[in-house]
Amino acid sequence: MQNRELQKKRRFNIRYIPLYVLYAAACTFFLIKLVNVQITGTDRYVKTMSMTHEREVTVQSMRGEIYDRNGVPLAINDYSQSLMLDYASLPTSDKELNGSLASLVSVIKDFGYETETVMPVTGTYPHIEYDEEALKTQTGKNRMYKFLTYHNIKTGVKCLDLYEEILKEYALLDENGEHIYDTFTEDQIVRIRYGLDVTNFAPDNPYRLVSDIDLKLATAVLESGSKGAYLKKEYTRTYGVPGVGSNVIGRIGKIPADKMDEYLAKGYAYDAVIGLDGAEAAFEEYLRGENGITVYVEDDYGNILDSYVKKEPVPGKNVYLTIDIELQAAAEKALEKQIKSIVAEARALGVENSGEKADSGALTVFSAKTGQVLALASYPTYDLSTFSEDYGSLASNPAKPLFDRAVSGTYQPGSTFKLATTVAGLMSRTITEFTRINDTGKYTYYKDYQPSCWRRGGHGELELIDAIGASCNYYFYETGRLTGIETLNKYCRQLGLGEYTGIELPESKGILAGPEYKETIGQRWNPGDTLQAAIGQSDNSFTPIQLSSYIAAAVNGGTRYKATILLKTCTYSGSDEQKNAPQILGEVEIDENTADCVKRGMKRSKELTSSTKYYKFPIGTKTGTAQTSQTNNNAVLVAFAPYDDPEITLSCVIENGASGVNAAAPVLDTISFYFGLDRDGNALNTAED
Ligand SMILES: [Zn+2]
Repeated sequence: MQNRELQKKRRFNIRYIPLYVLYAAACTFFLIKLVNVQITGTDRYVKTMSMTHEREVTVQSMRGEIYDRNGVPLAINDYSQSLMLDYASLPTSDKELNGSLASLVSVIKDFGYETETVMPVTGTYPHIEYDEEALKTQTGKNRMYKFLTYHNIKTGVKCLDLYEEILKEYALLDENGEHIYDTFTEDQIVRIRYGLDVTNFAPDNPYRLVSDIDLKLATAVLESGSKGAYLKKEYTRTYGVPGVGSNVIGRIGKIPADKMDEYLAKGYAYDAVIGLDGAEAAFEEYLRGENGITVYVEDDYGNILDSYVKKEPVPGKNVYLTIDIELQAAAEKALEKQIKSIVAEARALGVENSGEKADSGALTVFSAKTGQVLALASYPTYDLSTFSEDYGSLASNPAKPLFDRAVSGTYQPGSTFKLATTVAGLMSRTITEFTRINDTGKYTYYKDYQPSCWRRGGHGELELIDAIGASCNYYFYETGRLTGIETLNKYCRQLGLGEYTGIELPESKGILAGPEYKETIGQRWNPGDTLQAAIGQSDNSFTPIQLSSYIAAAVNGGTRYKATILLKTCTYSGSDEQKNAPQILGEVEIDENTADCVKRGMKRSKELTSSTKYYKFPIGTKTGTAQTSQTNNNAVLVAFAPYDDPEITLSCVIENGASGVNAAAPVLDTISFYFGLDRDGNALNTAED
């Protein structure tokens, strides 16, 4: 329903683009005319004798839009006009400036709008006081300090005294000390002028009086002939499915100060809007389009005599992500629900470190056959449509909602790593699937380092598939030691562990435990480290997307696809599609039997794990419980589905989630959503008897 509305809205937008452009051009032309007539009108007799010259004005291109894999609009263009004050054409004398602002304020009020204010004062004269909240922010404080210094007013001045000082400064009282304007108008002038004084108002930095105004106010402002006012047309984003996939879609905004030179060199304007993160930043080159140029023919007095289009702006390309936004929503919801339920259950249980501190996590869905990322949930998250208002609380939230855990967070894999040890052990012919190892509890090969299996007393004699199913540490200590860390590392790298997945978002590389990494931190690799590495501990640390990608490479028979969130691009009008073909990063040395052992091991694990055993749909899973400190464990789970012909792989990490079994529910819920199953993994459309 919502999607249809949006598509309707989009059609509306496209249909009216020529009108928008025409209207904007008319406004600009009319306005420039107006300014010219007002400012230079007296010189019109001289004009005829003067020379003409051309001035080029950049016409901003429209930004491409972002859709999900099924064409659901995610980030689309909207248009707004703001009423601005221009430094060059605003009167300079107090009297004229106040007069001009007074007439603007009156028009703005007539049309039911309010001017924006940065002045930290509430109430109306003489019942006014400082807005303590606004003064608590660094910007609020800085601006007030700047203002007081500039006007030679002592700090700590009482609010009413300050106001009266300002009335004098701004010449808002007549020679008898009487107020010139009514209370409302006077207050508005004070606020606007305070804003002009403290926000670096300059020729290249216009002042925003009112955002997002309608056509009626725009016309009235133009007709009022108020000096210094002009309209600025701005493209903004609206979000098709607000609050979902924000980490993937990303934000747009002004060029950050530290990147200004870089963007200027690429031909951006100072006030250009760019992608700041997520797909908006990753696909900036597609989305940005090419600016156009309009040439104004002017005389020496700046009167416009003629104008023509030198270069038409080219809209940016539309980007279709591989993300299925409905699946993304299901994954985000399932992840949030499970984190809250872990906390609730741990509190009810009253046992310390049983999950009461679970507060964040990630869930990824990866196509095992193409490398396309179908969902990338990170919790907590945020809502792009309310980002600006929420920024303060988002930035100060200790759980870091702006951090994309799915691609940037690195986590110990715990026992989910045993599948990589399986591949290395089998492929190096160190073990076969029938190799029996007797787990006696404590692993005593080394004298000085004797770790134990998690099961007190040991699992007894096991073959590989059962060892994966039981997640026997002892079995993998032995397999790891016999395989050797170099060989283990070789296969891990092939599987993409501790390697970039190639996803277009800022991803972490993770760490593959081994002598190579130890060397970078100036430490030596000890034989005992191999035992820990083989069960996913030691320095091993991977991103959730890496875990999905690694399982995909193992169960699809050894193809390591580049992870991608880009499905295709097309021109703004929708024609001329360019598909993003799957790319292969590497091939894993893995034979059919080894891939089959990984699958069977994960199937056995699924059948033996309390939180997955009752799920009916044929899948494979493997839990991991990764110790992050003496008291906290992360819950990890990897999965693939369906069993016979793996289509998707999934990974879930829940920070402080206590145990791997706790990461199962959101994965199962997401699989159910993807395949259209109920919560228990039964088909929804079973025929009735
Ligand atoms: Zn064991």
